Amino acid sequence: MLRVVPENSGQLVPLDPTVPGNESRVSLFGLDAAALAGVLKEEGEPSWRADQVVEAVYRQYISEISSITTLPLTFRQKLVARGWQVGRPEIAKAFKSADGTERYLIHCPGPKAESVEAVWMPEGDDGEAGDGSTDEAKDWRRATICVSSQVGCAVNCQFCLTAKLGLQRNLTPGEIAGQVVSVLDRHAVRVGRDRVNLVFMGMGEPFLNYDNFMAAVRLLVHEVGLSPQRMTVSTSGIVPGIERFAEEPSDLRPKLAISLNAPNDEVRAGIMPINRKWPISSVIDAVRRVRLRPRERITFEYVLLGGVTDRPEHAREVARLVRRTGLPAKVNLIAWNPGPDFHYSTPKPETAEQFQKALTAEGIPAYIRQPRGRDIFAACGQLKRTVEA
Ligand code: SF4
Repeated sequence: MLRVVPENSGQLVPLDPTVPGNESRVSLFGLDAAALAGVLKEEGEPSWRADQVVEAVYRQYISEISSITTLPLTFRQKLVARGWQVGRPEIAKAFKSADGTERYLIHCPGPKAESVEAVWMPEGDDGEAGDGSTDEAKDWRRATICVSSQVGCAVNCQFCLTAKLGLQRNLTPGEIAGQVVSVLDRHAVRVGRDRVNLVFMGMGEPFLNYDNFMAAVRLLVHEVGLSPQRMTVSTSGIVPGIERFAEEPSDLRPKLAISLNAPNDEVRAGIMPINRKWPISSVIDAVRRVRLRPRERITFEYVLLGGVTDRPEHAREVARLVRRTGLPAKVNLIAWNPGPDFHYSTPKPETAEQFQKALTAEGIPAYIRQPRGRDIFAACGQLKRTVEA
C-alpha cells in the first residue's frame, strides 16, 4: 500500500484512498533519508538507494523521477506506476525588481494545493564571482532567500499585508524546504560554493507551525546541506515556541530574531495584538533561555512606523529592553514598507538615521535594512500572493 506524508506530521502513514487526491500521486520530496529508506524497502529496493534519491532530489534539484538516472530504469518506472512523484513545490510565477530581487509565487501540489511566496535577494558582485568559479551567468556573490512557513498568517500585525489573508493553513516540512530547493534550482546554486542565507520571515509565523518548521530545518541541514548558522527565524514573540527553540541542539537550530517593532507594551499591543497574550517581558524572559553559539547574537527586528514607533525616546526604551536580555544582541531597523489600505506612513530616511544613532549612543548595535523589491511587493510585510508585479 502506498504511503503519504500528511500535513503537520512529517510521519508516514498508510495511504487512505477514500481521501480526495490521495488516489493520485504521493511525494518523495519532504521525506528525510530514513523515511526514504523505508519507502524504498517497501518497494523492494535496498535502503542504500535512499542516498541516491537524497542526492538527486535535494542536492541536484531533480524534480522528475524519470530523470533520476542513478536509479535503474525499471525501478523508476515502477515508482511512477505506483503513484510516486518527486512532488517538489515549483515556481509558478516570478516577479523581478529593478534591484535584482525576485519574488516567486510557489505552487505546492497535493490534495490541499496552495500557493505561497518566497523572495530571492542577491547581493551583486560587479560581475566577479571572487570564488575562482568560471560561471559567467552568475552575477551575485551572496544571496538571501526569504521563506514562508504558513499560507497566510493568524498573528494579525496591523502593518503587514500577509495578515490580511488570515491563516489558510500550515505548510508541511516539504513545502517549506521545497521553496528553498526550487529557488536554489532556479539560480543553479551550488551549496558549499555559493553563500546563501535563509531567513524564515516570509508569510506566516514559524513558531505557530513549530514541528513542521523545525522538520524543514532538519531537511535543509541534513539532506540539502545548508548550514543552520546561515539561517535566521523570526518570531512575533510566541513564547512557548521560543521556549521550545531554546531546547533545540545548537548545531541544528537557526539564529533567532524577535520581531519587536515597538518600545513598550502599550504601543506594541496597538500594532501587534499578539502582545496582549505574550507581553514584551514574557518574550524577553523566554529569549534569555536561548544558549547562544560563540559570536552569535539575538536580532531584534524593528519596523519604524512614522509617528508611531520612530521617536528618539522610543529608541532609548528599545535600548533598555534589549539590555534586559543580557545577551549579545543587535537591532535591525526597517522603515515600514507601504501597502494598499494602510493608514501608516514611512518615516523619512533622516528619522531612521536618528533612531539608529540614538540606539548606538546607548551601546546597542543598530543597522538600517535597505528595502528590497518594494516595487514588486517583495519587501518585509508585503507578501500577500499579489499577482501583479
Ligand atoms: S508580520 Fe509576520 S507574524 Fe505579523 S502578521 Fe505578518 S507574517 Fe504574520
